[in-house]
Amino acid sequence: MTITSFKPTPRTLMGPGPSDVSPRVLEALARPTIGHLDPEFIGMMDEMKQLLQYVFQTKNELTFPVSAPGSAGMETCFANLVEPGDKVIVCQNGVFGGRMKENVTRCGGTAVMVEDEWGKAIDIAKVEQALKDNSDAKILAFVHAETSTGAQSDAKALTVLAHKYDCLVIVDAVTSLGGTELRVDDWDIDAIYSGTQKCMSAPPGLSPVSFSDKAAEVIKNRKTPVQSWFLDLSLVMGYWGGGGKRAYHHTAPINNLYGLHEALVVLKEEGLENSWARHAKMHQALRAGIEAMGLSFIVDETDRLPQLNAVTIPDGVDDAAVRDKLLADYNLEIGAGLGALAGKVWRIGLMGYASNAKNVEYCLNALDEVLTEIGAKINSGVAVEAAKAKLV
Ligand SMILES: *Cc1c(COP(=O)(O)O)cnc(C)c1O
Repeated sequence: MTITSFKPTPRTLMGPGPSDVSPRVLEALARPTIGHLDPEFIGMMDEMKQLLQYVFQTKNELTFPVSAPGSAGMETCFANLVEPGDKVIVCQNGVFGGRMKENVTRCGGTAVMVEDEWGKAIDIAKVEQALKDNSDAKILAFVHAETSTGAQSDAKALTVLAHKYDCLVIVDAVTSLGGTELRVDDWDIDAIYSGTQKCMSAPPGLSPVSFSDKAAEVIKNRKTPVQSWFLDLSLVMGYWGGGGKRAYHHTAPINNLYGLHEALVVLKEEGLENSWARHAKMHQALRAGIEAMGLSFIVDETDRLPQLNAVTIPDGVDDAAVRDKLLADYNLEIGAGLGALAGKVWRIGLMGYASNAKNVEYCLNALDEVLTEIGAKINSGVAVEAAKAKLV
C-alpha cells in the first residue's frame, strides 16, 4: 500500500477536548515558519504575553505558554514550586486532582488529600479543616473546572482560605480559561496553568501559565534546583522572559504559537466576558434539550460547568455504541465518562469556538435520532425545539 497525505474527515468536536478549531486559527497555523529568534517572531511573543495576561486577567510578568499540552503546565507549576519535603494539600473531586498528587510525590513532596465525591464541587469546610490540621503545608492545589465530571469549584474562596493559612495556591484552569469567570489578580491566585485545546479552541500542544510575583519569589529562593531541566522556569525565562535578551532554550513550536496567537486575538475581539456569557447561554440551551429528552445532569445546578456537560446515560443504553454511531454517522465526537464515571455519563463539551447554537442543535438532533433508533426510552423529537426556545 502506498501511504499518501493524511486528510482527516472534518468532525464536530463536542467532547472534553480538543474542541473545534476555527478556520481563522487553522489558517494561521499554515503561515510560513520563521525562526524562533526572528525579530518578527519576538514581536509576536511580546503580543502573546499581553494577550495571555488579558485572558488570565493579570499583570503577572511571569505569564507565557509552556511548549507542551496542559499536563506540562501542571508539571511546570509543581516542579518549580514544590521542593523535596514540602507538604501540599491536594483537593480531588475527579481525575485531575489525582494527577496533582502524582506530581507532588514525584517532586519529593508529601500530598495531603482532601477528597470529594466525583461530580461535586470541592467542599470548602473540608479544605479548611485540612489547612488547620496541617499548619506546615506550603501549597493548596485544586482544579477549578473538573473536566472529568463537569463540576466547578469556587477558586476565589479556596484562594482566600489558603492565604489565611499562609499557603500558596496552584490552580488548574485548563478547562475554565475562556469559558467561565476567572480573574487571576482579583482573586490573588499564585500559580495557574491552562491548555489551548479546551475553551481557547487552538490545537493541543501549548499550556499557558502565570505566576504571581510572590510565587516567582518563592521559586527564586528555592534551596534545590528544579528536577526537570525543560520545565525549570529560571532557564525557560531566558527565552520567554523578554527584556530584549531572548536566548535559545528550546525551539519554540512556532506554528502552534501562531495558532494560539490567532485564537487569543479572536477571543479578545469577542471580549472575555462576552465569551463567558456565550458559554453560559449555550449550556442553558443544551440543558433545555437534554432535559426535554428526559435525560439529566450529574452535577448540581449551582456547580455545573457550562463548557462541560456530564449527562447520565439512560438505563440499558450501550455507551460506546452510541458514541461510535455519533462519530460514524454524524461526524460528531462526544466524550465518555472517566474513572468512577466510566459507562455512567457522556461528557458533552461546549468549548470555545464549538460553543455555538448550530452545534447545540446538531448534537441534540444527533443524540435524539441515535437514541430513538436504538429504542432507548427518551422523549423523541422534542429536544431541538426546547433548545431553540433558549436561543432567541
Ligand atoms: C485536559 C485537562 C488537563 C490536561 O491537559 P492536556 O492538554 O490533555 O495535557 C489537565 N487538567 C484538566 C482539568 C483538563 O481538563
